[in-house]
Amino acid sequence: MAFCMYDSGIYEFDNLKKLSGYCKIIPNSVYLLNNKQINPRGIVAMKKALIKLTSTAVALTVFLSFLPGCSSSSQQKESAKDSSTVESSLVTKTASNVYKRAETVATAVEAKQLLVEGNKRFVEAAFAIKDESETKRKELATKGQKPFAVIVSCSDSRVPPELVFDQALGDIFIIRDAGNVVDPVALGSVEYGVEHLHAPLIVVLGHEKCGAVKATVDGGEVTENIGAIINKIKPAFLKVKDSGAAKEDLYKNCEDENIKNTMDEIKKSPVVKKLMEEGKVSVVGAKYHIESGEVTFDY
Ligand SMILES: [Zn+2]
Repeated sequence: MAFCMYDSGIYEFDNLKKLSGYCKIIPNSVYLLNNKQINPRGIVAMKKALIKLTSTAVALTVFLSFLPGCSSSSQQKESAKDSSTVESSLVTKTASNVYKRAETVATAVEAKQLLVEGNKRFVEAAFAIKDESETKRKELATKGQKPFAVIVSCSDSRVPPELVFDQALGDIFIIRDAGNVVDPVALGSVEYGVEHLHAPLIVVLGHEKCGAVKATVDGGEVTENIGAIINKIKPAFLKVKDSGAAKEDLYKNCEDENIKNTMDEIKKSPVVKKLMEEGKVSVVGAKYHIESGEVTFDY
């Protein structure tokens, strides 16, 4: 019998022969499969050959290994060692290598550091092993959530914050809509995240090739509700539209200005403003780069 971690789940190989075409299977071992190194057809076949397990006991015996060519246990340990080089003192690994961050992240600097490190893991496809067990869910239900960052991001399916920052249950408090803009409902959510959940950092996460920004720049007929999104992005467009920049640069510049505008709107919230004055909260802007997977904090 062998197990593997894939797509945030733990699976039992029910057909070792079927899987042997993808990697060398060592019985009674656990593998972490790096989906960036398996071609799409391989993933489909892999999923069909796996049965998902829910046992936390299995999760606690996980070793690291990467496809292609699932390696020996000594190589697995070497992989774990390599990935640990991107971890900070805020992150500890249990004997089983399960990711565990400091329960209380008090400062924006520490919170940003966790996000930067998580994004590095994402870019390198060296994902941390996360505890998504029933025990963890019960712990979060009992103790409550203590997310260390509030993230305002676009709804774009290519920009999921938990993946991009390689975070787990209870780690980040996210508000998403097309165009990463804020209205009273979104601002109320941001305020809840910092005032009641005490997250020290607010991140406005824009991204390349944003469809909402493109729709604003391109113009044209839209529905009333999509028009409400575009009206939010329009001030950013007005700042860049007469720059003489080529269309592609215009999209990029509008994305950048839109991030800054959303940051400014958040900073005007009386709740956020007060917490910023007290040094308890910071607002930063970031941009996700679609192809590289990298998040840059330049705003
Ligand atoms: Zn977008």
